[in-house]
Amino acid sequence: MKIRRLTTYHAPPRWLFLKVETDEGIAGWGEPVVEGRSRTVEAAVHELGEYLIGRDPSRINDLWQTLYRGGFYRGGPVLMSAIAGIDQALWDIKGKALGVPVYELLGGLVRDRMKTYRWVGGDRPAELVEQIRGYLAQGFDTFKFNGTEEMRLVDSPRAIDSALAKVAAVREAFGDTVDFGIDFHGRVGAPMARVLLREMEPYKPLFVEEPVLPEQAEYYPRALPRPARSHSPPASACIRASSSSACSRPAACRSCNRTCPTPAASPNA
Ligand SMILES: [Mg+2]
Repeated sequence: MKIRRLTTYHAPPRWLFLKVETDEGIAGWGEPVVEGRSRTVEAAVHELGEYLIGRDPSRINDLWQTLYRGGFYRGGPVLMSAIAGIDQALWDIKGKALGVPVYELLGGLVRDRMKTYRWVGGDRPAELVEQIRGYLAQGFDTFKFNGTEEMRLVDSPRAIDSALAKVAAVREAFGDTVDFGIDFHGRVGAPMARVLLREMEPYKPLFVEEPVLPEQAEYYPRALPRPARSHSPPASACIRASSSSACSRPAACRSCNRTCPTPAASPNA
């Protein structure tokens, strides 16, 4: 089997999908994208794809290593997302060629069911509550929403109060019948992250995502409330980790929902 063509498809507003076709009629799909940089990643996919045309798609590790190590520059969110999307498509092809789900090739089924949360947009407390009410009617009981707008390195109590108002409104409206995570999106510097985490703790979020940027993981021990405060929310850090150097603190990733690349550069990263 040989790879014949790579085609990319934009799905507005920000998604990109890749179809890798072979000369035997089997096609695999991947999702090579970084939020807000879909066209940049797309260009990288097609540059990398030049090497793939005419190659055997079953040699996934061989191709991955060549794509990763074959250029002078390695790593970074753009190149790694491009390689990841290609990697997904190659595994998809292999699974289809062998007639098994890809999870059978990666160690087998682990879970029969998985708890999910529903993202809730908007920044106004009343708006959040109204949306959650609607999603509860659809059967969701776990949610995630924005923690705060951009914050200055040292910001005023008004900014803290504004962020707390949303969390408080959700708890007040629904009590402990709902669970929620809070996403800071890496918008908050370590000094304000420490304050926000402390102030939000009484509302018992399931987790706080990107309380600071992944590159600032060394601030976690200082930003997190002390262990004696037993309800400290887990901090989820690795959503943006995209190269072997970006995730040097795996212990911080216990609640992360993504497999991070290790220094050994797993081909499935
Ligand atoms: Mg996030």
